[in-house]
Amino acid sequence: MPLKDDDLMQKIVSFCKRRGFIFPASEIYGGFANAYSYGPYGTELKNNIKKLWWKMFVQDRADIVGLDGPILLNPKIWEASGHTSGFNDAMVDCRACQKRFRADHLVEQATGRDLEGDLKAMSKILHDEKVKCPNCGQSDWTKVRNLNLMFKTEMNGIEGPVYLRPETAGAIFVDFKNVIDSMRVKIPFGIAQIGKAFRNEIIAGNFIFRLREFEQMEIEYFIDPKTKWEPLFEGWLRDQGEFVMALGAKKKNFRRFEHPKEKLSHYSKKTVDIEYNFPFGWSELYGLAHRGDFDLSQHAKFSGQDLSYLDQISNHRYIPHVLEPTFGVDRSVLVSLVSAYTEEKVGDEERVVLKFPKNLAPIKVAIFPLLKNKEKLVEKAKGIFNSLKTELICEFDDNGNIGKRYRRQDEIGTPYCITVDFDTLDNNTVTVRDRDSMKQERVNIGELKEWLKREI
Ligand code: ATP
Repeated sequence: MPLKDDDLMQKIVSFCKRRGFIFPASEIYGGFANAYSYGPYGTELKNNIKKLWWKMFVQDRADIVGLDGPILLNPKIWEASGHTSGFNDAMVDCRACQKRFRADHLVEQATGRDLEGDLKAMSKILHDEKVKCPNCGQSDWTKVRNLNLMFKTEMNGIEGPVYLRPETAGAIFVDFKNVIDSMRVKIPFGIAQIGKAFRNEIIAGNFIFRLREFEQMEIEYFIDPKTKWEPLFEGWLRDQGEFVMALGAKKKNFRRFEHPKEKLSHYSKKTVDIEYNFPFGWSELYGLAHRGDFDLSQHAKFSGQDLSYLDQISNHRYIPHVLEPTFGVDRSVLVSLVSAYTEEKVGDEERVVLKFPKNLAPIKVAIFPLLKNKEKLVEKAKGIFNSLKTELICEFDDNGNIGKRYRRQDEIGTPYCITVDFDTLDNNTVTVRDRDSMKQERVNIGELKEWLKREI
């Protein structure tokens, strides 16, 4: 994909490293496989995003329950779901420079055509149209082959390979029966899960957009096959849009893309991607699919268990259909960073400010004594820090002049900075400075906690 706004992406990548949000993983060993670690601020941001999702889709709703299943599952699950045989990407190697590529991406860039799955046609186009290698410029391709994206491992006492789950959904379907047997859930209801997923992507890249180890937030929403599903589907799309807005995204930067009917999996009635206008172009952020009864039927068949549901009122027994809204955690973090990152002129200076929605900001409040060497100011500021930190994530900073301290907090998106000055010692008030407007207000220390909790 051509980089549309390379500069912004580069800026965000180096900013994230410099300011403790996201580091290249295994860096002291020269890096490893395009992987990243979340640094102290990145971890807070990511946790806030997951917390918000859990609150919005599990805790605030009466019709959804949570689950936390394992990464290593019985390998039969992946046979039943079709991942063992069909979870493939088309790959091709450049014979000249030995680099490996997604063949479908090369063909799409060269011709605009999406030949998903047709390996022969892809080989022919790469060859006939002399498509150039993006790395070395030659056109000397191997045959296009399928690569299964699941990571394999071994487990003591188990014969044959065990897989790191390629999505969180599998764990949900196999616990469907446990949930209906143990909880008082009635269809329609959903099971939600947040967790790691692993895909041996041919090329990872675009920072945290495409990783080999990533996190998903998924819901399987079970419905009666006789229900009019279209309004529910539309409702989920609206909810997904609302979540994108809650990350701080602007409406114009995301859109829906409905998969054409002829490209749908045989079991899907409808699939829509939520795409976001990332600095490298419009790409999938989330997905929503109507998966019919494919998953529960397959797991019933492969496990030999009855996974039907009995509607106690109508006495009607059926295999539920499922709507599957799926959200990528890392892509959500990227959206929040791209949406928040702002460069502004303040007088003669430039400031970088991350304008996160306040509830997502890694640090909520920073507390400064005006001067580092005035014991009374430091003592008072530490007292405020200690009283706030039990309820809000705070930072104490007495290093450098106040202007520099404000800039540091602007850069990490802290909504409020509190300064203890000489007036504080007289009248027990402090200044509270707003990140976005940079306006300062004097607030009484006794009212500070409530004031901040109201604003954040
Ligand atoms: P893509 O077309 O970008 O490969 P996909 O259609 O394979 O994505 P799904 O299988 O629908 O993705 O996965 C659900 C969600 O998980 C995606 O919408 C995305 O947010 C996230 N996701 C998928 N693959 C990755 C990855 N390699 N790195 C980070 N997030 C991912």
